[in-house]
Amino acid sequence: MNQPVRVRFAPSPTGALHVGGARTAIYNWAFARRHGGTFILRIDDTDPERSTPENTAQILRSLRWLGMDWDEGPEVGGPHAPYFQTLRARLYSAALERMKAEGSAYPCFCTTLELEAKRSAAREGDGTPGYDRTCRRLTRDQAHARIAEGAPHVWRLAVPEDRGDIVVDDAVRGETVFPASAMDDFVLVRSDGTPTYNFATVVDDAEMDITHVIRGDDHLSNTPRQIMVFEALGHFVPRFAHLSMIWGADGKKLSKRHGATSVEQFHAEGFLPEALLNHLALLGWSLDGETTVFHADALTHNFSLERISKNPAIFDFEKLEWMNGAYIREMPNERFAERMMPWLEQAGISTPDDLEKRRDWYRELAPLVSERVKRMTEIGPAVAFLFQETVTVDPTAAAKAFSVEGTRDVLDAVATSLDGLAEWTPTAIEEVLRAIPEHFAMKPRIVFQAVRVAVTGGLVSLPLFESLALLGKAASVARVRAAEAAVSRT
Ligand code: GLU
Repeated sequence: MNQPVRVRFAPSPTGALHVGGARTAIYNWAFARRHGGTFILRIDDTDPERSTPENTAQILRSLRWLGMDWDEGPEVGGPHAPYFQTLRARLYSAALERMKAEGSAYPCFCTTLELEAKRSAAREGDGTPGYDRTCRRLTRDQAHARIAEGAPHVWRLAVPEDRGDIVVDDAVRGETVFPASAMDDFVLVRSDGTPTYNFATVVDDAEMDITHVIRGDDHLSNTPRQIMVFEALGHFVPRFAHLSMIWGADGKKLSKRHGATSVEQFHAEGFLPEALLNHLALLGWSLDGETTVFHADALTHNFSLERISKNPAIFDFEKLEWMNGAYIREMPNERFAERMMPWLEQAGISTPDDLEKRRDWYRELAPLVSERVKRMTEIGPAVAFLFQETVTVDPTAAAKAFSVEGTRDVLDAVATSLDGLAEWTPTAIEEVLRAIPEHFAMKPRIVFQAVRVAVTGGLVSLPLFESLALLGKAASVARVRAAEAAVSRT
C-alpha cells in the first residue's frame, strides 16, 4: 500500500478510557507519528443509550493527559474536536443508497419473532445459523411495494454468491480463514435508520481512507464482515492489526479486581502520564527486547507493527510503580518542584502561587522527595510536617524514640545547639548534631531518632539535616523544646 499512513482510534463513549483502549490509542498515535501520517480520533457514539458527553469528555481528558494529539476533525466545535459518528449520519445514508443502487444491500421485512423462529429451527435442524435470505428472494418491485406500504424493514448486505472463504491477513496474528459458509447477510442499517457498528465503521474507515486498523482483538471476528462491506463499497481494504488482550497477573482479563483499570484512576493514584504511557507501550510491544524505560519520542521514532506480540500482555502493577519511581527520580529538580504543586494543593498543603514565592525552597525540597516516593500521592504525607504550625507526635514513635534514659537532656542540648547556630544550613546543622551523641556517650542513631520524631512527628521521614534546614530555625527549636517538655512530664 503506497498511500500515506492514516489511522484512527475509535472509542465508544460508554465508559471511562481503560488501559486497553489507551494502549490502542498509543499504538495508533505512535504508528502515525513514526510514518509522518495522520492520527484521527473518532468517537463511536452511535449507541444512544450508553454514550454520554461526560464519558466523551473523560476520554478526551485521559488522552490529552497521556500526551496524545490528533490531527484532524470535522471543524465543528473547534480545530481539536474529534469526529463524532452521530454527526455523520448523512454519510451512512449515502453509502447505503450507493449499495442499494448496486444491489449489494437489500431490505428485509422479517420480524424479530420470525427471525427467532428461523434461528431455533436452524439450531435444531442442520441448517446454517444466520439469516436464511428469505427477503433476498423478493423482486425489486415486491420490495418497493412493501416499503411504500410502510412495512418496517432493515437493510442487509447481499453477500456475493461466489464469495469464497475470507482470509484476514493480520499484521499481528498472521492469517485467519473465515469460511464463506459462515458469512450471513448481516444487518447494515436497523429499522430505525441507524447504522450498525460494522457498517458505520467501514463507511467511516473508507471515507477517511484509513490505511491501517489497529484495535483490540475482540474485533477480529467482525473483520470478515467489514472486509465484505469495503468490497461492496469498492474501496481498498486496510491492513488490520489486532492487539491481544491485557491480562492481570492471574491470567484473567484485566478488571477492577486487579486494581485500577481506567486512565483517570491511575492519574488519581499518583502515576505520571509518561510512566503509564511507557508501561502501556510495553504491553505487547518492545523497543529492542531489553530497554524498559523510554520516552514518548522513542516510541514515535521506532514504533512498528512487526514488533507487536500476539501473546496476551500481563499488566504488572509493581513494575508500573517501579517505573513511576524511576521517572520521578530522573526528573530535574525544577521540573519536579512544579509537578509536585498540584499534589500539594490537593493534599491541602499549599497553593499554586506558593512556588512563585519560594522557588529556591521548593527546589531544595524536590530531590529529598523525589528520591523517596514512587507515586505522586506519597508527596503530601511525606512533606506535611514542613507546612504545619506544630506537629502531632505519633504515640508509637514517641514511645520508641523518647523512652531511652537521658532523652530529655539530649533534646535540651539539641535545642540549645540549634538555637546557637549562626548559619542555618544542612552542613552546619549536621556538624552540631553530630557532636551530641559523643557528649552523652550515646549511639548517634538513638539521638537522631529522637530529633527526627520531635521535628517530624514520626520515625520515617525525609533526610534529617535537610529537613531541619527547610523547616527553619525557629520551628525546629520550638519542636525540639516541645518534645523535651513532653518527655519531662512522663
Ligand atoms: N468503537 C469500537 C470499540 O470501541 C471501535 C472498534 C474499531 O476500532 O473498529 O470497540
